[in-house]
Formats: sequence, C-alpha cells, structure tokens
Amino acid sequence: MKIGFVGLGIMGSAMAANLIRAGFDVTVWNRSAERCAACAGMGAEIAASPRMAAECSDVVIAMLADPRAVLSVRDGADGILAGLKPGAGYLDMSTVDAETSIESARMAHEKGALFLEAPVAGSRKPAEDATLTIMAAGDRPLYDAALPALEAMGKKILFLGAVGNAARMKLANNLVMSGMLTALCEGMALASGSGLDTAQFLEVLDSGAVSNPMFRLKGPQIAANREFPTSFPLKHMQKDLRLALRLAEEIGQPLFATATVNELYKKALAEGHGESDFAAVSRIIKK
Ligand code: NAP
Repeated sequence: MKIGFVGLGIMGSAMAANLIRAGFDVTVWNRSAERCAACAGMGAEIAASPRMAAECSDVVIAMLADPRAVLSVRDGADGILAGLKPGAGYLDMSTVDAETSIESARMAHEKGALFLEAPVAGSRKPAEDATLTIMAAGDRPLYDAALPALEAMGKKILFLGAVGNAARMKLANNLVMSGMLTALCEGMALASGSGLDTAQFLEVLDSGAVSNPMFRLKGPQIAANREFPTSFPLKHMQKDLRLALRLAEEIGQPLFATATVNELYKKALAEGHGESDFAAVSRIIKK
C-alpha cells in the first residue's frame, strides 16, 4: 500500500517512521520542509505539496495541529483534496472537532474517495513505540483496508461507527486527562506548600486507587519544577478543552470543572507556556 503522510510534528514524525519500518511505501510532506529529512533518511519520498502526497498514494494520512491546520492542508489548489483519486482513502489522525471531520468526509466523498477520522491517545513515547490507542470512525471499507497501517502505529484500535464519533471520543478522553493533570498539580502544590515530601506524596498516590501511568510519568517532573521535554504541547491541550466545551454547549451538557480547567490553560497560554508540555500548567497553579 502506498501511503502519503502529511504533518511531521512530534506525533506525525514518529508515526510515519513506524510506517516506513513496517515496510509501507511512504511519501511525506510537512509545512516546514526540514522536518522531512529524518523520514527521507529512512527511505521515504518527499512530496512538493499535500496534493502531490495524495496523488501518489492509495491512502493519505494527515497528523496536523488543529482544525485550522487541517483546512489549510486539505483545501485549495495544492491541498489533499485536489490530489485525491476516486477510490483512494483520506485518513485524518489530527485531533479536531466532529464538524471538521464530517466536512472532510463530505468533500472526500465528492471526489469519489473514502474518509476515516482516527485521532489517537498516547503521546510522544507511545507514538515512537507504536503503542498508540487509535479511535477510528467513518468509512468501514477504508478502516478494513488501512488496518495494517493502523496496526503499525498503535496497539489498541477501535472502530466507533459514523464519522464524528472518534473526534467526540478523543475530546472526552482529553477532558479527563486535563482534569487529572490539574488535580495532580494542585495536590502537589498543597503537599509541597505544607512542607510534605513530594516523593512520598507521589508514593501514596501510586499505591492507591488513583494510581496511573500519567501520574508516574509527570509527577516527578512536576515535583522537580524544572523544564522538561515537550511530549504534548500545552497549546494543543487548550485547543482540545475549547473543542470539548463547544461540543458540550452543542448538546447542552454542563461541564463545571472542565470550564475552570480551561481557564487555567488559557492563562498558561497567555503567559507563554504554549510550546511547553501541558504539565507546565503547574507553573500557573504553584504560588
Ligand atoms: P506538533 O508537534 O505541534 O505538530 C503539528 C503539525 O501540524 C506540524 O507538522 C506542523 O507543521 C503542522 N501545522 C500546524 N499548523 C499548520 C498549518 N497552518 N499548515 C500546515 N501545517 C501546519 O503537534 P503534535 O504533538 O504532533 O500533535 C498533532 C496532533 O495530534 C494534534 O491535533 C494534537 O492535538 C494531537 N495529539 C498529540 C499528542 C501528543 O502527545 N503530542 C497526543 C495525542 C494527540 P510545522 O512543522 O511546519 O509547524
């Protein structure tokens, strides 16, 4: 299967590399061209535009920052849709809102192509290790055809039915994740501020019902209160909160805690932490 891969950021570069390792014939494109070098070094072709990445592929995969990035790479004379052949597949793994995915599906269908949204859970390391959770929804025949490629990037792969469902599932997942991380930061601030040993605080958390891999990974980093590598940029978490709150408004579901968590992330963004890991929200919480 020939795969076009568009968007070589933190996640996309690792996912494309795994497709190349698994033996797929991969052509990459990225807005900042220098990010194509690593995949090219592994044997990938480089396309001159998203259109060309789609033209030379059976399935074109996108892994982009947000809805605006998806539109700018999807539409226009050099966009994915312009190069999408009848019968080909367009697989968008970016985290976006359901409306963006539904519109992408409609436009792909107009070209006689198939569409699948497939956002992921899991960060830089699971992307590198091909252990992502992949939530797919849309055209089942494309899911069936693309499954070997999805299996080269993830370990848990779910088909969720109609397009839009995977976007909604991903937003619900990240709502929980941002709330948990905020609770960890506040607990840490309370523990250290009142003179407790933060290592012991983390030990207590890890031995009880709230034990989880994210606390084990981020806890020591937050406790150390120093810069650490960005796995999940804070600006993307705030985007996910914004989209989750918009979905909640559409269906009339109040999200009391999430609205407050979003304000915290907005403040972190305003204070220049957008490119930092989302755990940098601890800087806003700690007095
Ligand atoms: P990232 O490192 O910020 O990469 C974003 C990608 O989008 C880059 O390739 C960037 O190109 C491209 N892009 C941004 N704006 C663009 C535009 N206007 N036109 C064309 N290309 C544009 O983000 P990431 O962490 O890989 O995340 C990608 C997606 O996966 C996001 O939707 C994120 O929410 C989601 N996600 C991330 C994680 C994580 O832990 N990192 C986990 C699960 C899901 P340039 O290189 O030119 O900037």
